[in-house]
Formats: sequence, C-alpha cells, structure tokens
Amino acid sequence: MNFQFSPEDENFRQEVRQFFQDSVSPEVAHFGYVGAHPPPRDVLRQWQKTLHARGWGAPHWPQEFGGTDWSPIRKHIFLEEMLNANGLDYGWQGTHMMAPVVIAFGNEWQQQTFLPPLLSGEVFWCQGFSEPNAGSDLASLKTRAELDENGTHYVVNGQKIWTSDATIADWGFFLVRTDSTVKPQRGISFLLIDMKSPGITVRPIISIDGGHGLTEVFLENVRVPKEQLVGEPGMGWTYAKYLLEKERTSSAFIYFNKRELEKAKVIARAELIDGVPLLETPVFARKVAEIEADILALEWSVLRILTKEELRDNLDAVVSTLKVRGSELQQRVTELQVDAMGPRALRFFSHDARQKDACDEWDDLWPAHTLGRTNMYFFQRASTIYGGAREVQKNIIAKLAFGL
Ligand SMILES: Cc1cc2nc3c(=O)[nH]c(=O)nc-3n(C[C@H](O)[C@H](O)[C@H](O)COP(=O)(O)OP(=O)(O)OC[C@H]3O[C@@H](n4cnc5c(N)ncnc54)[C@H](O)[C@@H]3O)c2cc1C
Repeated sequence: MNFQFSPEDENFRQEVRQFFQDSVSPEVAHFGYVGAHPPPRDVLRQWQKTLHARGWGAPHWPQEFGGTDWSPIRKHIFLEEMLNANGLDYGWQGTHMMAPVVIAFGNEWQQQTFLPPLLSGEVFWCQGFSEPNAGSDLASLKTRAELDENGTHYVVNGQKIWTSDATIADWGFFLVRTDSTVKPQRGISFLLIDMKSPGITVRPIISIDGGHGLTEVFLENVRVPKEQLVGEPGMGWTYAKYLLEKERTSSAFIYFNKRELEKAKVIARAELIDGVPLLETPVFARKVAEIEADILALEWSVLRILTKEELRDNLDAVVSTLKVRGSELQQRVTELQVDAMGPRALRFFSHDARQKDACDEWDDLWPAHTLGRTNMYFFQRASTIYGGAREVQKNIIAKLAFGL
C-alpha cells in the first residue's frame, strides 16, 4: 500500500498547521510539552475557548452539535498537527467519552444542558468507572444508586478510584449499580453527577511522576436527580462499550509517539559524546531507527483503518493490538528520551511549575528541551494499564483473532 494524502488533505494540513502556529500560546505550549496532567484549569479553559472560537472545539462531534463534517483522515491530521504544535490534547473524558454517549443515547434536555458548556470550555468532566475491586473486571463494580422514596432522585453510595482529573472536574459520568438481582452487566446504569454535590469527597493520589491528576472519589448518600440518568436504567454497560469503541484508533497513541520521538531526536542532537551528537553514534542511532520503524508501521495500520471502511467493522482484536503496540511504544519512546539525557534525567521538574517558574530553574545543565521528560518517562509506565491493561488486551486478541 502506498499511502499518500490527497492535495486537498495536504491543503487542509497547512490550514490547520497555520492555525496552531498562530494560536498556541507559550503557556499552552509549555504545558503541552511537559505533558502536565492536568494542565491548570485556566490554561485548559482558555485553550478550549480558542478551539471553539475557530469552530474546532470538538471536530469529531456531528455538525448539528457543533462538530465538523471532516473525514477520519482530516480528524487524524488535526490531532497530529495539534500535538506537534504542543497544543493541549486534553479533556477527552468530556469531549470524547461523555459527549458521544449523550449524543447517541441522551435525551434533548441532556444534550442541550451538557454539551454547549463543554464545547465552550466552561465545564470539565471526569470518568468514574474503576473501583478498588473493579478495574479489568469492571462488571463487578459495587457503587450503588437507588431511587429514593419519591422516585425523583438516585441516592449513590460507593467508591471510585483512579478517576483522572476529578480535582478540576465540574461533572462526572459514573457507572453505578441500579439492580443487583440480574446478571452483573445488566444491572449497571450511566449517571451524570455534579461533582459539587454534597456527599462527594475527592482525594488526590500522587503518582510516581509527582502528578496529582489521579484521585479516589468517595460517594456518600449523594442525591442525583433521576433526569441525569442517560438512556435506560440497566443499559450502562452497553453505553460504556459504545463509548470505548467510539475512538478506536486513538488507542495507538500515534500522535503522542511521533511527537515524543521527535523530542528524543532533539535531545540526542544536543547531547555530545566526545564532541559528536549522540544521535549520530551508531548504537543510539540504531535504537532510534528501531523505534521509528515500529511507530511508522503502527501509523500505517491506523491509516489503513481510517481509509478502509471495511476494516472498521469488527475491529475488536485490531483495537487491542493497536493498544498493546501503542502503549508499549509510549514506554519505549519516553525511555529513549531519558536514555539520551543520561545524568540530566536525574533532575525532576515540578509538575505544576508554570513556564516562568520552570524557566527560573533552568541553567546550562538543563536546557529547555529536557523539561518534564523524566516525569513523562515515569508516568508512561502506566500506559500499559490505563484504558485496558495489556494482559487483558492480549486475552482479547487470543480469543477474537485466534479463537483460543
Ligand atoms: C494513569 C491512569 C489513569 C486512569 N484513569 C481512569 C479514569 O479516569 N477513570 C476510570 O474509571 N479509571 C481510570 N483508570 C483505571 C484503569 O482503567 C484501571 O487501572 C485498569 O482498567 C486496570 O484495572 P486495575 O487497576 O483494577 O487492575 P487489575 O484489573 O486488578 O489488574 C491487575 C493486573 O492483573 C492483570 N489482569 C487482570 N485481569 C486479568 C486476566 N483476566 N488475565 C490476565 N491478567 C489479568 C492486569 O493486566 C494487571 O496487570 C486509570 C488508571 C491509570 C493507571
């Protein structure tokens, strides 16, 4: 297969590239570069407003809800260019997870209430699925939601864990058990909860990279109007599967991997071994080439899926393969950066440091391109866990692709 973008798509790429060149502020670029999770809320908000003003706040939504009519390839180009410009590819829980479910299964009131403020950057969302004893085995989740005596509110009790960004989220979409008498998957519902509701406690979990985007969320007698249940009670499992299938090729993390490889090259060009750039030394050049070849192969797999309609059907095993390969590459490419930095990798940057504070810390030993790389290396150890653990993905591949 000889893949080439059409001249129209290349023109589109130029248009998008120009937009990002003009609109990614130094502050946005800083948080995009270091991979802060989450970036400060005010920066994120401003960024979403910038995208929204251009009509690109959620390009993958249907046009009638404020999205675009772009082809899958154009959406691909858009994300690739955004990451290359260090724009903030953030807030997916709202735009890529909650919104498609509300668009497909929510009622008009829910669509009108929850989608516009998300698009315009006023409101951020978190995803409350995992629990202490329900991660890979999500169907065993125990957080209960019971209708009160008036039948107007659900009363929610339970605990979620690893809830990314709950500290900055205004709302959360939760999987809750509304019926314990049926098969586990059949008793789960999809509930939208205001994170400021009485009875919610959010406790940050500090991750190995010093970030505090992860949290535990405790729900104690939280009263939720029943209008905030999406679709039918007991259909939450089906909606969650729809949500996870919606962004199938994103599991390859192709934009991330390509961008981080370029950063590794910048570092390796600047690091000298006996006066020779590390990038030009045979051993390191070989490592770079191996990873680059694997990223390229993965990118072509993604492009084949995006361009061939027939490949988009029955993709389950393919999606799991993309996830396994993509997440392993995330780990390899960030390891390559740290490898290239050598002893400089020992410096740990504060996750919250704004550009000015971070700059103040820089000196000749730690040039700008080293900023946040060690943190990223550590955080990416989780990439083979989140979004579906690697072993579970391999089980899916074994079953669906090989019938084992
Ligand atoms: C950085 C990060 C962000 C996250 N963000 C969110 C979020 O925003 N919202 C949310 O709801 N969740 C989130 N999660 C949770 C994530 O979805 C779970 O961590 C993941 O599904 C794995 O579940 P677990 O942690 O309970 O591990 P477990 O399921 O307990 O797995 C532990 C180990 O056992 C292995 N294992 C489990 N079952 C099998 C099996 N059947 N066969 C072989 N091996 C198996 C796994 O591969 C893993 O190595 C996040 C996790 C991380 C690390």
